[in-house]
Amino acid sequence: MLFETVSVIPGVFDPYLDASIMGRARRAGIFEFRAHDLRDWTHDRHRTVDDAPFGGGQGMLMKPGPIFEAVEELSSEGPRPHVVFFSPCGARFDQRVAERLAGEERVLLVCGRYEGVDERVYSLADEVLSLGDYVLTGGELAALVVIDAVVRLLPGALGDEASPVDESFSQESGLLEYAQYTRPSTYRGMPVPEVLLSGDHARVDRWRRLSSVERTARWRPDLLEGVDLDEEERRVVEGVALASACDGPGGGVADATPSLG
Ligand code: SAH
Repeated sequence: MLFETVSVIPGVFDPYLDASIMGRARRAGIFEFRAHDLRDWTHDRHRTVDDAPFGGGQGMLMKPGPIFEAVEELSSEGPRPHVVFFSPCGARFDQRVAERLAGEERVLLVCGRYEGVDERVYSLADEVLSLGDYVLTGGELAALVVIDAVVRLLPGALGDEASPVDESFSQESGLLEYAQYTRPSTYRGMPVPEVLLSGDHARVDRWRRLSSVERTARWRPDLLEGVDLDEEERRVVEGVALASACDGPGGGVADATPSLG
């Protein structure tokens, strides 16, 4: 899979994408990455990419010319890229979008800066994505977030093929991930749930499912809509609802494991 960015600070991507899991996946050829400098598509001595907004107002906008020329030239070579723009006004980026993008051969991420881009450039976009309801200084972090979330879904990127399957937001369950523990089995007086030390895989699986249900009910009850729950799982959800009604907001968060012993 090939990711490309068009931005005015093309140097910011490599340090992240060459490190740790991303770096290993890149070196293994699981994904390729090319950062393009938007200023390569300017024609004046100062390599100008921005201009003042019509109608007045503060700040500068990215002008359409360099972005149009960049996207058109890059699209004319090789497989047609899926073109993504970023804006706080875009559709929210989430795990479903990451899963969909993981099926693309080539993704071109166009990163805005300043007060944003001339509205006409969105006619080049296959989609416009937002990371969330806040305003960043530029789209570069958004591009890195998208690349990171998509690459870790590509076969072999995490080393262990099974690992992205039962994670939070995965298509599989629609729930948050279950609570996890590592050694020591007791730390500062806090023991790991006994069942996890039992070696009984069926009981561990059941505990994990209930832990997922409980954590989802506690932190993201909106995700439970449409999830099929059996009777025991529904009791866990009701228990969480009851506990938070008694404790008030945020109550009992530290005690987020089902008592399956
Ligand atoms: N004036 C615009 C914000 C521009 S911020 C507005 O009020 O909507 C400059 C650039 O940062 C944007 O073009 C986009 O590429 C990026 N950006 C800012 N916030 C973002 C967000 N929440 N998600 C994704 N990209 C964002």
